Amino acid sequence: MKIKEVILCKYGEVILKGLNKRQFEKKMLADLSSRLAPHGKFDVYAVQSTAYAVPLTEDCDIDAAMNSALRVFGFSAVSRAAVAEKNIESILAVATEYLPQHLQNISSFKVESKRSDKNFPLKSPEISMEVGGAILESNPHIKVNLSEPKTIVRVEVRESNAYVSPGIVRGAGGLPMGSAGKSMLLLSGGIDSPVAGYMMARRGCALSAVHFETPPYTGLRAREKVIALAEKMSAYTGKIDLHIVSLTKIQEAIAANCEEEYFTLLLRRSMMRIADKLAKKHRCDSLITGESLGQVASQTMMAIGVTDAVTTLPVFRPCIAMDKDDIVVIARKIDTFETSCLPYDDCCALFTPRHPKTRPPMERVLEQEARLDLEELERE
Ligand code: ATP
Ligand code: MG
Repeated sequence: MKIKEVILCKYGEVILKGLNKRQFEKKMLADLSSRLAPHGKFDVYAVQSTAYAVPLTEDCDIDAAMNSALRVFGFSAVSRAAVAEKNIESILAVATEYLPQHLQNISSFKVESKRSDKNFPLKSPEISMEVGGAILESNPHIKVNLSEPKTIVRVEVRESNAYVSPGIVRGAGGLPMGSAGKSMLLLSGGIDSPVAGYMMARRGCALSAVHFETPPYTGLRAREKVIALAEKMSAYTGKIDLHIVSLTKIQEAIAANCEEEYFTLLLRRSMMRIADKLAKKHRCDSLITGESLGQVASQTMMAIGVTDAVTTLPVFRPCIAMDKDDIVVIARKIDTFETSCLPYDDCCALFTPRHPKTRPPMERVLEQEARLDLEELERE
């Protein structure tokens, strides 16, 4: 028997959208199509809150396509499945032929069935019983475990076909790429800001990014590291425009004219003001940073207040309540961790005051800034 395999992607939160669901759906399908394109010709369409990717030629790489589908924001679950006709004989034949290759290394299972076609003569539990029996017969090593199965085999009887899947994998979740609008990420070479960008992209933000460097205090390697980070992120977030801005003159002016304990704060305010201008120029409606409350002196409540005050845009800080360990888990998942750990400093590290202000009064900050011609320096 010739098995026909497809990929099924289940909608996440988008299901809850009302009248504009169609727009979200269009974005998810476009994203899915473009990510599958390198793996062969697929027909991508949606029926009843499930996107189908149907291979059109023999040479489609389903393994690679599965991996790509798992990165598409907006889908909560993804599975590969074999297509059966809508009768129990065909479902059992397909299950017997298709499942063994996927259940080889799996010790226990249960079957869950779902009928969206209520005219199908068997009820869901009956389908599960039948298919479970067929699996036990054709896979002697495997046992049924209803409470903690290693995999849940899924049978779905849908509008025109039935589908048999060896298991469901958690999808990328979130909202479709770009559905929330565009945001400007302040991207350092550290661990946190790539994670922050990824988290906001998952909520539907298309990303632009700005990186500040201070040559010759920072080198080409630091810049290359940030470009590499943006490239790695883009495997999840889609295309990122990366702007690179030199802060050397501003940093030198601060170092020459201001009190050391304010250095970092003043530099961060300049970064935010420049990011604000760039964001507006490139139609971004928000900023994103990798700040985490209390992680360093410039991330106390008052310090964050002082940097926040220079922009009228909303500033998203998705790492604000996360521990470093939790941030690292995500950095590893999106494969930016090792690159972030390369030892090329970004500008702040070379400029860190010995006793930074953790409770900076705003008047004092403004006093420090009044010593500089920041408008001209930042414009440049
Ligand atoms: P990260 O791990 O993202 O570097 P961090 O914990 O080192 O963060 P800071 O260096 O205080 O913290 O920076 C806080 C945030 O400010 C960063 O997450 C990033 O969004 C932004 N930022 C810091 N330095 C730069 C830079 N050189 N270019 C662009 N953005 C920066
Ligand atoms: Mg940093």
